[in-house]
Amino acid sequence: MLATVVLSAFAAVGSAFVLSTRDGPFGMVFDHCVVDGSVAMTFDDGPYNYHENISDIMTAAGGHATFFINGQNWGCIYDYQDALKHSFAQGHQIASHTWSHADLTAVDASTMETEINKIDAAIENILGVVPACLRPPYGSYNDAVKAAAAAHSKNLIIWDLDSGDSTGSSASVSKEIYDKGKASRTGNILALNHETSKTTVTEVLQYAIDDLKAYGYTKFVTVAECLNIEPYTSVGPAGTPNYSWHCDW
Ligand SMILES: [Zn+2]
Repeated sequence: MLATVVLSAFAAVGSAFVLSTRDGPFGMVFDHCVVDGSVAMTFDDGPYNYHENISDIMTAAGGHATFFINGQNWGCIYDYQDALKHSFAQGHQIASHTWSHADLTAVDASTMETEINKIDAAIENILGVVPACLRPPYGSYNDAVKAAAAAHSKNLIIWDLDSGDSTGSSASVSKEIYDKGKASRTGNILALNHETSKTTVTEVLQYAIDDLKAYGYTKFVTVAECLNIEPYTSVGPAGTPNYSWHCDW
């Protein structure tokens, strides 16, 4: 069964401890969860065609996912407004993965601003919220990226379990990664998946949920919940879908 090892630094303060509120601190880098027994299943590179399937599978499991989405990557975000509203309404967390999936350590300051601002604006247009969590594409960051995240009231989220679904792993290899990973963790998992991988949705996800639940992981929560941080820097009324919006702006 799941080892009841608790990160001692957080044990004394328990769930009342908040690592980052809407007032900060920001610009921090998190690569593992802190809430014991929690699993944060994260899905990058969407929104894409399986977005609602993932939302429904996670909802049926009694849990919540986190989607680190782009504006224009596999598709244009404005073509997936209904899918995003569906997942957001189910309580899943919507977070930033930059506008065009740029390596933020390889762009100039002005491009970095555009990459952060443009996806924020799109998410706010569609859902009424501005994300406080940003996953830098390729997990690539440096001091300039941390400073930009801080300036935009965000924290950077990496992972401690990579399902391998963006690097050519088959579904069976991804399942094996979950099999091995569950026992090597110290009480929580921050898992990287990609919503653009069909077999992640059709084969791996339900297997991973059942596998981890059977092992003793009971809380399938958002990244913000597994870290005790705020998911959004601001929350306003949800937008009305506007199907004339497009990604060429
Ligand atoms: Zn990505």
